[in-house]
Amino acid sequence: MSTLIRRAAEKLRPKYVPKLCNLDLPKTRQFSTRAVPPLDGASTGLYGFDHLKTPKGFQRFVDEAIERSGELVNRISMMPSSAEIIQAMDEISDTVCSVVDSAELCRHTHPDREFVEEANMASMRINEYLHYLNTNHTLYAAVKRAEKDGHLLTKEAHRAAHNLRIDFEKGGIHLPSEKLDRVNQLSMNIFQLSRQFGENISTDPGHVDIYPVSRIPKQIHHLLTPIHRFTSGTSGGSTGSWGNMKEKGFRIITEPRTLVSVLHCAADEEVRKMAYIQGNSVPRANLKVLDELIAARHELAQIMGYRSYAEFTVKQNLASSPEVVMSFLCEMSEMIRPKADQEFETIRNFKREKCGQICIDLEPWDEAYYTGMMKSCDHNLDSSIVASYFPLRQCIEGLKVLVKSLFGATFHNVPMAPGESWHPEVLKMSLHHPEEGDLGYLYLDLYSRKGKYPGCANFAIKGGRRISETEYQLPVVALVCNFPGSNSSNLRLNHWEVETLFHEFGHALHSLLSRTDFQHFSGTRVVLDFAETPSNLFEYYAWDYRVLRTFAKHYSTGEIIPEELVKSMQGARDMFAATELQRQVFYALVDQTLFGEQQASCRDTSSIVADLKTQYTSWKHVESTHWQIRFSHLVNYGAGYYSYLYARCFAATIWKKLCQEDPLSSSTGTCLRTKLLQHGGAKEPSEMLNDLVGEGIVRYCNSGIVPDMTAFTDELSLVEDQRLQLRL
Ligand SMILES: [Zn+2]
Repeated sequence: MSTLIRRAAEKLRPKYVPKLCNLDLPKTRQFSTRAVPPLDGASTGLYGFDHLKTPKGFQRFVDEAIERSGELVNRISMMPSSAEIIQAMDEISDTVCSVVDSAELCRHTHPDREFVEEANMASMRINEYLHYLNTNHTLYAAVKRAEKDGHLLTKEAHRAAHNLRIDFEKGGIHLPSEKLDRVNQLSMNIFQLSRQFGENISTDPGHVDIYPVSRIPKQIHHLLTPIHRFTSGTSGGSTGSWGNMKEKGFRIITEPRTLVSVLHCAADEEVRKMAYIQGNSVPRANLKVLDELIAARHELAQIMGYRSYAEFTVKQNLASSPEVVMSFLCEMSEMIRPKADQEFETIRNFKREKCGQICIDLEPWDEAYYTGMMKSCDHNLDSSIVASYFPLRQCIEGLKVLVKSLFGATFHNVPMAPGESWHPEVLKMSLHHPEEGDLGYLYLDLYSRKGKYPGCANFAIKGGRRISETEYQLPVVALVCNFPGSNSSNLRLNHWEVETLFHEFGHALHSLLSRTDFQHFSGTRVVLDFAETPSNLFEYYAWDYRVLRTFAKHYSTGEIIPEELVKSMQGARDMFAATELQRQVFYALVDQTLFGEQQASCRDTSSIVADLKTQYTSWKHVESTHWQIRFSHLVNYGAGYYSYLYARCFAATIWKKLCQEDPLSSSTGTCLRTKLLQHGGAKEPSEMLNDLVGEGIVRYCNSGIVPDMTAFTDELSLVEDQRLQLRL
C-alpha cells in the first residue's frame, strides 16, 4: 500500500529480537516545517517540526501534508512531460514521509501517552492518504510519460521515474478495476493478518510449570514467576494445611528471550525439553493465520501476473527471481553441510561425555546448553569481564573514532531546542566535516524504558534531498536502542550489544552520508537484498582489535582491552559458526518455500517445515512443534529473509578486499563513502559493489545476481581448522 514511500527493510538480525530499520524521508523549503531546528534557542516541536509542539500538533501536521501534496498533485496534472514531474513526485513523497516517519518514531519511543495516541492517529490518517496517492491515475500517467519521453537529464532521475512506475504497478494501479478492487481487499487482509500474527505471539507466549525450584538454576530465577502447589507428602518445609506439602516451583513463560535463557542455563534436560516444545508450539492460532496469509499473498501475486508471492517480492531485488534465491541457498547449504555435521558430532560427543552415556542422542533443546558450556570451557570467557571494557560512553567514543578515521568527520553534541526532544536522556549530535560543514544529524535514544520499542533500530526522520543547485536537505536519523538501566555513567554493554550498536550505526551512516538528488533513494532506501550490507560491514568493526583498542577501555582503570581477551571472544564467536549459518539458511529456505509456488496438494506448513529441517539441517525435527508460527520474519519479510545472507556475503567480501588491511584508513573510508554510502539507492547495487571492490563480489546467475561466497566461507574454513586442532 505504500508505494510512494517504500518502507523497505525491517531489520534483519535473526540472532536477537528483530529490529526495525525504517527508511528515509525528507522535507522541502516550501513546506511549513523546518528541516533543522533553530540554532537561536527558540522553541520548536518534536524533531524540529514546528507543528509538533503539542500532541495535537500531529493533526495539523497531517492536514498540511495532505494540503501540500494536493497542490503538488494538481500541479503535476497540468505539467507537460518534464523532469519537474519527478521532482514534484519526490516532493510529495518527502512531505508525506515527514509525517509517516515522525509518527513512527513517536509511536515507538515517546514517553507521553498523548503524543503516542496522536501519532497513532496521524499514522492511520496519513496511511489512508498514501493509499489515495498510490492509486492515483493522474500521478501514474505522469510518471509513465516522464519515464518514456526522455526529458530526464540524469541517470538518477531516470531511475527514479522507472522505480516510481514499478512501485505504482506493485500496488495494482494498471489493473482493470475489478482486479484492483480485489488487490485492495487482499492488501487489507494481509495487513490485518500480519497484525494478528504479531498480536497472537505477544498474547499467547505459552508457559510450563516446573517443580521443585531446585530444577531451575539460580541465575535465571529473576526471569521466572514463583509458583507453588500443595501436594501430599511428608518431607520437611511444609507450611500447608495438615497432610499437605506446599511445594515451590517456577512458571517459565516461554516467550523467546526467557526461552533462550532457559535453554542456555537449565542443566535438567527434561526442563529444557518441556520449555523447548512449549515455546515452539504456541500460539496455535497462528497456524490458521499463517495459512491465510500465505493464501492471500499467493492470490495477490497471481492477480499481479506472478507465479508466486516469492516471485512478486524478489523480482525487483538483486536476485530477481526465486529460482536464483533457491540456487544460492542450496549452494550455501551444501557448502556448509559437512562442517555443520561435524559440529553436530562434536556437540553430541560432548553431551555423551558429560552424561556418561555413550548412546544418548543429541536433541534440539540441547544445542544452546552444550554449545554454551563448550564455549566457556574452551575460551574461559566471563561476560562481565568483557562488559567491563565496554562502558556505553566509550562505545559512543568508538562511533566517533570511526567517523573521524574513515571520513575525517566529527560528531558534535548539539543542544536541543526547547520542545525538540522526547526524553531527557536523548542526545543529539551533528556529523560535521571540516570542509563540507554539517553532513546530517543523529539523535541517540539508547536506554530502555517502559513502553519503548523493545529492540534496536535506526529510525529515519528526514532523508537527504537536493532542494536546489546550492541547497541540500540534510538527513536526520534516530538511533534507538534498549540498553538496560538509565543514563548512568557506569552502564556497560555486553559485546553482542556493541555489535548491535555498530550494526545500527551502519544503517545510520548510510542515511547520514547519503547525497542523492531524490529522497526516494536516500540512504537505506535500497532494494531489500542489498539494504543490510553496510550494517553487516560495520559489525566487523566491532570485532577488530585495531578498532577495539581505540575505544574499548576498562570502566575504572582505563586499561585498553587486552588483545588476548578479544581473541577469546572471536574464538567463542567462531565455534559452531556453521551450525548457526545452517540455521539461517534453513530459515531462508522456509521463507522462500512457504511463499513460493503453491502445490496442488495443499500441504500444511508444519509438514513443509519438518521436511526442510530434515533435509537441510543436521538436527532433527521434533514432532508436534510448529516453530514457524512464532517466526515473525515470515510476516515482515515474506520471501525476503535470504537478504540477510546476501548481506553477510557482500560485507565479508568488502571487509576482506577493502577494509581488512587497514580498517580505519581514510582511503578505506573515502571508498566506502564515495562508491557506496553516498549513493543510497540511486545507483544499481551491483554497479556500486563492483566499483567498490572490483570484480568478484557478485556473480550473475539466470538473469539475477548472487553474492560471491568465497570471502564469507573462507572465514568459516579458518574457523574450522582452528576448531579441528582443538577438538580432534
Ligand atoms: Zn539492519
